[in-house]
Amino acid sequence: MTTGKAAVFFGPGKPFELRELPLPEVEPDAVLVRVALANVCGSDLHFWRGDAPLKLPQDGWVYGHEMTGRVARLGARIKTDSLGHPLAEGDRVAYTYFYPCGRCAACLDKRPAACLAKVGRPLGPSEFPYFHGAFAEYYYLKPGGFVFKVPDGLPDELVAPVNCALSQVIFGLDQAGLRFGGTVVIQGAGGLGVQAAAVARDMGAATVIVIDQLTGRLELARAFGADHTINIKEVTDRKDRVNLVRKLTGGVGADIVCDFVGFPQVIPEGIEMLRQGGTYLEIGTISRGAKVEIEPAALVWGAKRIVGVIMYDPWVIPRALDFLVRNRTRWPFDRLISHTYPLAEINRAFADSEWHGRDTTTITRAALVP
Ligand SMILES: [Zn+2]
Ligand SMILES: [Zn+2]
Repeated sequence: MTTGKAAVFFGPGKPFELRELPLPEVEPDAVLVRVALANVCGSDLHFWRGDAPLKLPQDGWVYGHEMTGRVARLGARIKTDSLGHPLAEGDRVAYTYFYPCGRCAACLDKRPAACLAKVGRPLGPSEFPYFHGAFAEYYYLKPGGFVFKVPDGLPDELVAPVNCALSQVIFGLDQAGLRFGGTVVIQGAGGLGVQAAAVARDMGAATVIVIDQLTGRLELARAFGADHTINIKEVTDRKDRVNLVRKLTGGVGADIVCDFVGFPQVIPEGIEMLRQGGTYLEIGTISRGAKVEIEPAALVWGAKRIVGVIMYDPWVIPRALDFLVRNRTRWPFDRLISHTYPLAEINRAFADSEWHGRDTTTITRAALVP
């Protein structure tokens, strides 16, 4: 093969267009991956919907990031994965899609997830290495990317969310300081929220409460380990929801509340649900410019923290794979991807995934099979 297909995005409201692109020359420290499965993630929907201003190259943007695949070509210097296990062409892999620079204050402080340079600007199909995102037949893992061999027993459907949703929630709960016996409230039962319920359980949480407005999602959250769910369409008053969380957490409020909704209006309510000294984990609201009013005194007198997390440190991926091996029969991971589409039907996959402004959705996560 000398070429591969990629879906090119031209901006909100415009359809993706499929293009045939040349396969890049693989640099000595890079890996060309043949994508097996690429999921439509909530953040992809934000860009597609136009929730935040976007500057795209003239020739469009090759994007998408939640994926798994097989090694198509190994750079000449790559003999092993990032843990030192031998790596060969054809091996199934999970990998990061961002590249900490190694030369900034955050990287120096050994906090690669906080590196501002780790995600570059949107790149179009005419710029080397052409395959910049998941919505394509190939993904070019650039030098400095982290790659891990996937255990044989895990099907692609389980592995595809590892490099985004699953690793994101594992790292987030780690950064928020979830401890054995802790209480966790999850706002938003999309892909991240549902997996966060299971991860919190696996990390030893005593009580997991999930909040959403869609019945189907809340049911899925319960299947993934949530003890209690709150439907905001049923408990319509914010005060009642806060009181309910207090009641379900022994009268004190939650140790950790997480935003996996993506709209900042939920944040003040979440902060209110925290116990004294609790931590609010902010992951969902990635759209720049989105604002919300909070009362700083509630943080001061509540001795509460807000922790923002974007992506994760590379150690998380192998632990996420272990988590799946350990728990694959405990929770119905096969239900996380509800619909699959060929790459050529990417426009339908996005339209079907849209949940904002709808009452019901049958789709949990759409996956493209390039
Ligand atoms: Zn994602
Ligand atoms: Zn850096």
